[in-house]
Amino acid sequence: LLRVQGVRKAYGSKVVLDDVSLEVAAGDVVCLIGASGSGKSTLMRCLNLLEDVDDGTIEFEGREISDPLVDRRAVHARMGMVFQAYNLFPHLTVLDNVTLAPRRVHKVPRREAEARARGLLEQFGLADKADVHPDRLSGGQQQRVALVRALATGPALLLLDEITAALDPELVGDVLRAVRALAAEGTTMVLATHEMDFAREVATQVCFLDGGRILEQGPPAQIFSAPREERTRQFLARVL
Ligand code: ATP
Ligand code: MG
Repeated sequence: LLRVQGVRKAYGSKVVLDDVSLEVAAGDVVCLIGASGSGKSTLMRCLNLLEDVDDGTIEFEGREISDPLVDRRAVHARMGMVFQAYNLFPHLTVLDNVTLAPRRVHKVPRREAEARARGLLEQFGLADKADVHPDRLSGGQQQRVALVRALATGPALLLLDEITAALDPELVGDVLRAVRALAAEGTTMVLATHEMDFAREVATQVCFLDGGRILEQGPPAQIFSAPREERTRQFLARVL
């Protein structure tokens, strides 16, 4: 589904991603772990074309999307992303937040978009919130709406960047449950997280980033129980 080869990204003289290669197959849940500043968010922003890469290629659904001439809107339609800080449109109701992209970008008729949106809201325990504005929701509810919004266009890949990091601890569980349900349905995801127990549980592949490189990559059992690299071991000793 996604093939990243030799991606490099620098801000000025600071190399933030260095020769990153990664493959994601349909149904994979790839967790990016690593210290703050190791490049997780930058990698996701490159995948999503929010940043241009300096070198290397990104192929998605058989097309090279790192090509500067690619239609970004078409890519965004197939790749949903949710960030750490919920970024819902405050002046729109939950339902309008969720149906905006399907209606505007994909020209889905209102009735159809709303039916799909209500189904997704129900699935995420938000059925009664469709007509309220985001400021009436808890952080956990807002983040679940952000998830629903990212799913509303039926993306092939979901990118989640520390979507529980800004939440109060008691709200984290609800959002993780929602992501767990998506994983169980076979949704393909790349997610950056500091929640190691969660990564261990849902990941099919774990990538440990260190200084902009994928230092080590493998199934969670290997990375968490038998890391090959000393740096991985040190990182896990600090966070587990
Ligand atoms: P965290 O766990 O704190 O979210 P991260 O792994 O997501 O960290 P990134 O946000 O990808 O890390 O940042 C990687 C490096 O790139 C950091 O050193 C950061 O300072 C630098 N960086 C990120 N964005 C920019 C930017 N727009 N301009 C300059 N440097 C940047
Ligand atoms: Mg980050």
